[in-house]
Amino acid sequence: MEVARFIFSLFGINTYVVYDPATLECAVIDPGMSSKREYDALDHFIGRKNLRVTHLINTHLHVDHAIGDAYVQKKYGLPLEAHPADAPLGARAAEQALMFGITERAEAVTITSPLQDGEVIKIGNGVLHVIHVPGHSPGHIALYDKEDGFIIGGDILFQGSVGRTDLPGGNHNQLIEGIRKRLMTLPDDTIVYPGHGNETTIGLERAHNPFL
Ligand SMILES: [Zn+2]
Ligand SMILES: [Zn+2]
Repeated sequence: MEVARFIFSLFGINTYVVYDPATLECAVIDPGMSSKREYDALDHFIGRKNLRVTHLINTHLHVDHAIGDAYVQKKYGLPLEAHPADAPLGARAAEQALMFGITERAEAVTITSPLQDGEVIKIGNGVLHVIHVPGHSPGHIALYDKEDGFIIGGDILFQGSVGRTDLPGGNHNQLIEGIRKRLMTLPDDTIVYPGHGNETTIGLERAHNPFL
């Protein structure tokens, strides 16, 4: 599958469109759009590539990753797929928005299609495996494309860093243990597409990440 990245909002949040170029089905992951200009950027890409949006997935429900969920749900008529342990975060989206310094009103986010560890999401002929790695948030998941060798990692692992764990439900030791057991066991050349900043690989982080 192919991966397109958009950088949205004040937070420099990475929103990803993962698509199968053969069938043109796609998933929108962590929609961080919060203005008409940003909605248009996503929609124009989808239109230009002639994609059909078949999944809306959140790696976790921090508001910077979820603020565009309502728009995508309405526009493309999709359920929201995320891990149920983050449901309480979604319910407190408005409160979170203030905490993150977002001035626009955030709508509460409700998970309509709960995802569990080990589940498989089909996008055309492609497959994303759900890997639950809590610690940054209780229901944080990574999405692993084994065949094409990449993960959409949200705020678990960054180039030279790991997710912050000082927000409600955070747990540093749990995060580090999850990264070691579930992500560092993947092949070195696996590309990590994080929720903020540039991509990295499992091998580079294994060699250089000071938190691991
Ligand atoms: Zn987060
Ligand atoms: Zn984030």
